Amino acid sequence: MAFVKKCPECGSVNITHDPQLGEVICNDCGLVIEEEMVDSGADLSGKFDKSEKKGRGGAPISMQKFDKGLITNVGEISDIYRLEPGQTRKFLRLKKWQERVSTSIERNLRLAMAELRVIASYLNLPNVVRDEAARIYNYVLQRGLVRGRSMESVIAACLYTACRSYNIPRTLDEMAIASDVERKEIGRTYRFIIRKLGIKIKQSSPKDYISRFASVLKLSPKTQNDALKILKRAEEVELTSGRGPAGISAAALYVAALMNDEKKTQREVADIAGITEVTIRNRYKELIEKLELEDKIKQKEAETKSEK
Ligand SMILES: [Zn+2]
Repeated sequence: MAFVKKCPECGSVNITHDPQLGEVICNDCGLVIEEEMVDSGADLSGKFDKSEKKGRGGAPISMQKFDKGLITNVGEISDIYRLEPGQTRKFLRLKKWQERVSTSIERNLRLAMAELRVIASYLNLPNVVRDEAARIYNYVLQRGLVRGRSMESVIAACLYTACRSYNIPRTLDEMAIASDVERKEIGRTYRFIIRKLGIKIKQSSPKDYISRFASVLKLSPKTQNDALKILKRAEEVELTSGRGPAGISAAALYVAALMNDEKKTQREVADIAGITEVTIRNRYKELIEKLELEDKIKQKEAETKSEK
């Protein structure tokens, strides 16, 4: 196993090597970075082109609606009269086989698209993300890359991939809850898909998470703004590199909430960001030390006490 220093997903250096399981896991985002993966099929890197998104007329195809045109037909049944007698049998056998494959793919797609819609609406994902996820699913299904993986985990991974490529981050934990698939499994399938399809994904930035975490925690716009300011300063003193973005984002919100008298517990904030309490505690300590926020927080606490 190669030695991994940094999570390719979130840039965190907080990584655990587990030689027994043969896994390398990121402790910040929970991603399984490396493992002995079972490969099925050829490497399709670079063949998954963004330009496929457009139809011939230039309009985006809504991939959630595909029900035809998936498989080239062997031929119409009337073609049978044009065949040599010996070939008729072969033709019928082929036709039957094709129907079986095509109905099984279509059935899979119908179920998968229904599942995709449920998860996407649970997570409040915009249509572009749904369409992108559907397109990726269709692509991996047609190429037999789903073999040996549950439909649910592939759907969740496709949605996660689409979220990431549209910069609408959802944590692996959120995806796990919405899809009822283990987060490790989603992370693993996600890595498999982006590797096979050669999809390049930018690391998400801490500020991408602020508005969503803040709205789930019901924090005021002022707190949200302060959190963004804290992040900006954290970036300047290089407190953000080598740390998972969701964790920094959560810690910034936690600090901002303290400063604005909207205190949340570390547990509450950690849960929403899908990180551990240890992580948020560490990020919090770094922030208040390096940004010298301690006095501000103490002052606020004293004010609150005297008011009561
Ligand atoms: Zn990570």
